[in-house]
Amino acid sequence: MFLKVGCLSEKIGYYEALTNRYHMNRQQQDDYMTSSHGYIGERVMYDLLQEYKECICLWDIAVNLPYRGAVQYDFIVIHEYTVMHFDIKNYKGDYTLQHGNLVSSNDRIIKNPEPQLIRAHHYLEKLVFEFDRRFTLESYMVFINDQFNLNDRAPSDRWIFRSQLKNVLKSLTGYNNLKGSNISLAKHLIKLHQPLQQYDYFDRVPLVNIRTGYKCPLCKKLPAFNTHSTQFIVCSFCRRKIGMRYLIEYNLKELFILKGDGITPAEIKTFIPESKRSTISRVLTEHFTKTGVSKGVRYFLK
Ligand SMILES: [Zn+2]
Repeated sequence: MFLKVGCLSEKIGYYEALTNRYHMNRQQQDDYMTSSHGYIGERVMYDLLQEYKECICLWDIAVNLPYRGAVQYDFIVIHEYTVMHFDIKNYKGDYTLQHGNLVSSNDRIIKNPEPQLIRAHHYLEKLVFEFDRRFTLESYMVFINDQFNLNDRAPSDRWIFRSQLKNVLKSLTGYNNLKGSNISLAKHLIKLHQPLQQYDYFDRVPLVNIRTGYKCPLCKKLPAFNTHSTQFIVCSFCRRKIGMRYLIEYNLKELFILKGDGITPAEIKTFIPESKRSTISRVLTEHFTKTGVSKGVRYFLK
């Protein structure tokens, strides 16, 4: 049972909206790839943990400790007096170990992730012990991608590969007699959660440089439509039929994400000029909150 679910970060959502509307530079493309790759790995773990019904699970907890800095936990799983913390790595390909670092077959070097795991373990142990000393904490680094190969022996038991994961989780399948107290611990950790802004930082492209027009919500291409009807439209790329209201809703949400602030009627008109005003109004009423009057009108996503 999940008491907290990680959400798609603002940065990934922004890059998704930017896709095919702006030519991203190399640094933006790398940032997008790294962030979404990490998210995909966590999503795999989330799906897998759904099977462990007796556990109380948390996805993405970050705490800011006075004088000790910020620590982020991908997954915390509680079952009776066992707490497991999993740090997810979604690396793919062949790697070897050199001086503790991971080195890929094409010479990409990843700094030894274990010291960071040990630091996170140490702080979480303190937080858990403050709650109840009877808990024990185990921390693992999970290499979730089944196409990740380490051609050396794992340096410690804290390194877990996809093929070993179910074995580690085996102890969490029994009936949980302490669900109530496990939920209290989870809620205590949720209260301490403070999202870390630095991981979500990105530079916004000015709206004037962004390509306007309908983007297809299914194939993400634009301008994607050449068959008009009042009710639906057919994408000229993927040939799928899309309801007009959904199409406008999808594109207005993208405009809001790209601007990162309330959108104005003039910006909406420039972004999707071919839309019917009455349909836009209906979508805005349903999915956005209106603030201000006359020229100061802004719409914020609900
Ligand atoms: Zn399409």
